[in-house]
Amino acid sequence: MQHREGRIDCAPRFFSRSGGIAWAVRPSTIQDMTDGLLKYVDAAALVDGEARRLLQTRPASQRISLWNAQGRVLAQSIVADMDQPPFARSTRDGFACRSAEINLHTPLHIAGSTHAGDSPAGPLPTGAVWEIMTGASVPEGADSVAMLEHVERSGQTAQLRPPRVLTPGENLVARGAQARSGERLIEAGETLGPAHIALAAACGYEDLSVFVRPRVAILTTGDELVPIGAAPGPGQIRNSNAPMLAALVEAAGGEPWVLPAARDSDSALDAAFEIALQADMLLISGGVSAGKFDLVEPSLARRGAKFHFTGVRMQPGKPIVFGEAPRMTAEGPSLLRPVPFFGLPGNPISSAVTFLLFGARVLKGLAGAQSQGPRFVLARLTNDVRGKAGLTRFLPALWQSDPGLQVEPQVAHVHWHGSGDQAAFARANSFLVVPEEMDNLTAGTLVHVLLF
Ligand code: AMP
Ligand code: MG
Repeated sequence: MQHREGRIDCAPRFFSRSGGIAWAVRPSTIQDMTDGLLKYVDAAALVDGEARRLLQTRPASQRISLWNAQGRVLAQSIVADMDQPPFARSTRDGFACRSAEINLHTPLHIAGSTHAGDSPAGPLPTGAVWEIMTGASVPEGADSVAMLEHVERSGQTAQLRPPRVLTPGENLVARGAQARSGERLIEAGETLGPAHIALAAACGYEDLSVFVRPRVAILTTGDELVPIGAAPGPGQIRNSNAPMLAALVEAAGGEPWVLPAARDSDSALDAAFEIALQADMLLISGGVSAGKFDLVEPSLARRGAKFHFTGVRMQPGKPIVFGEAPRMTAEGPSLLRPVPFFGLPGNPISSAVTFLLFGARVLKGLAGAQSQGPRFVLARLTNDVRGKAGLTRFLPALWQSDPGLQVEPQVAHVHWHGSGDQAAFARANSFLVVPEEMDNLTAGTLVHVLLF
C-alpha cells in the first residue's frame, strides 16, 4: 500500500512538557517516518485539507421548514428583511427622556405611555418624559430610558433620583443597530443552531434552503459478528459498531446507510463494496489491521482505491485507513466524484475516536459545512496517566465543569481494559489527549480534551 507522503503540506509539530502544560509547539525538526506512519497532527492536517477540497463541491439543496433546521447546513444566505430592531427599542421598563433634561433632577411631566406592541408614539415634548415598557418603541426625541427603579413618580410627574445620571443611548437599542435592512446576516455553509434559527425567524424565514445530507454507507466486517437481536455463539459477538457508527454519522450531519455486515472473505468484501461505493462516503469497521483476515485494503485496491494514509501513530486507532475510491454508478465505476472512505479499526473505542477525529471532519466538508474540525477544550488532569511515548494517545475520560464556576474544568481518564471496553467507553464523555512525546502525565497538567 502506498503512502502519499507528498500530500502532507502542514508544518509538523511536537509537544513540549514546559510549564506543566501538555502543549503543541512549533518544532525545528521534521519527524522521523521510520515506521512509515504519519504523526497524528500530520494526519489531522491531511484530513483537514481533504475536507476543505471537498467543500468546493456544492452539495444538492432542499427546502425545509425552519422548525426542522436544527443541525442542518444552510445552502442560502439569511438576509435582514428590515432594520433590526425595526424601531428604537426600550430595554427597560421606565421613562423615555432627554438625558440632559432628566439629569437636572427636577420633576418632568409624563406626556404619554407606550406598551410593547403599541405603534410608535411621540414625539416627546420638551421638558417631559414618556412612560415606556421593555420592548416598546422609544418616542422620537428621547435619547435614553430612565429605569423605573431609579425614578420618583408623583402623580403625572417623574424625577430622576440623585445622584444617578443618564448618558445618551442608555437602556435603548437604536433602530438598525443590530442589522440593517438588506444586510447578509448568515452565510451559506453555516451549521444551524438555536441562535441562527432565532435570527432566521426574526427575518421572516418560515422555510430555508439547506444542503442535502451526505449518505454515509456503514459496512461492518468480521466473521465473529452477529445481529443485535441474536444470541452470540461461542467466539461470536454482537455487532455494536453498526448502531454506534450510525449514531456518530447522524450527530456529524450525515445520513447513515447501514449495510449488512460482511464476512472476512475477498468475495464478500468485493460484493459489499460494489454496493457501498454508491454512497457519498464510506465507513468500514474492522479488517484493516495486519492480520491474515484483514482483507479490506486489498479489496479496496482492487476497486482502484487511492490511499491517503494507511496507519497513524496514535492509540487507539493506529491501523486507521483513509482514501478515496471510484464511485459506483448505474454506468459502472466513475472517477468523477470519488467516494472518500475510512477503514476504522474494529475495536469500538478505536472506531469511535478515529471517526470523531477524522471521519466527522471529512463528512462536514462533504456536507458543505464551514467547520473547524474537532473541537478540543483544555482541562486540568486529576489523575496520573502512565504509558509509553511514541503514539498520540486518546484515553476515554470523564470531563467535568463546575456550574458554580469556582473550579476550572477537570478531566480524569477512566479505568479501561483497552479499546474493546465498551463499558468503560459508556462511562466516559470525552477523550483526553496524551501528546506523542509524553510517557506519563501527572495530575495537575493542563491537557487537551475532545468532548463527545
Ligand atoms: P479488527 O479491526 O477487525 O481486527 O477487529 C478488532 C476487534 O474489534 C476484534 O476484537 C473484533 O471482534 C472487534 N470488532 C470488529 N468489528 C466489530 C463490530 N462491528 N462491533 C463490535 N466489535 C467489533
Ligand atoms: Mg476483523
